Amino acid sequence: RNGLFRGNQYESTTAASDASDTPAEKYEYQAEVSRLMDLIVNSLYSNKEVFLRELVSNASDALDKLRFLSVTDPNLLKDGGDLDIRIQSDKDNGIITITDSGIGMTRQELVDCLGTIAQSGTAKFLKALKESKDSGADSSLIGQFGVGFYSAFLVSDRVVVSTRSPKSDKQYVWEGEANSSTYTIREETEPEKFLPRGTCLTLYLKRDDKGFAHPERIEKLVKNYSQFVSFPIYTWQEKG
Ligand code: ADP
Ligand code: MG
Repeated sequence: RNGLFRGNQYESTTAASDASDTPAEKYEYQAEVSRLMDLIVNSLYSNKEVFLRELVSNASDALDKLRFLSVTDPNLLKDGGDLDIRIQSDKDNGIITITDSGIGMTRQELVDCLGTIAQSGTAKFLKALKESKDSGADSSLIGQFGVGFYSAFLVSDRVVVSTRSPKSDKQYVWEGEANSSTYTIREETEPEKFLPRGTCLTLYLKRDDKGFAHPERIEKLVKNYSQFVSFPIYTWQEKG
């Protein structure tokens, strides 16, 4: 099994976390993504807090795309709602959710965007990695190039992405775990998780990284790294 299985669906299964019997389909990451994930999960990279900047910047990009497309297609905004980013944290359980009301992803976009390396920053990272013979350089490269969405795995054991594109009448759930070469996609079936449009990312933090779910910590990171984001960012703590 290698890169030839780019986004290939090779097995149907039922996700353990899905209460209903909706089947989840299992996919294998493109080989480069597996390498990247290995590196992220196993590196001793110490500046893990960059994950929030990466995920907030993706939320902001998704809102920008929606705003841009809505100029020619105002229908895209018909479901109403503000263009914003919401970060909710639950410090007792070590969970962070980041929700945006942006462009979302179709099922195919989930495979293309979160299963392969399409984007330049991450591709450059891999190229630099290939060229460096010193394995100690790995962690400095993470900081230099950024690893985008996959940086969620710097601090998370499990990441769940529930997303709805205005192009689709269905909402889909992508689910991946650190130390796994596969991810799953299924349809969202829990009504309380339905979004008018946009994306909700849930991070289940690693035992040693649960401190990132403290509200003061999140507020500080947002202030330090995301101060130039042009959409409102709301943060709040889940009441225990
Ligand atoms: P980059 O942001 O540099 O393209 P990332 O790894 O951060 O790379 O994200 C990969 C892709 O996944 C994005 O280009 C985008 O298409 C998609 N994506 C990630 N997060 C979101 C989101 N919140 N909403 C919509 N699409 C997203
Ligand atoms: Mg990004």
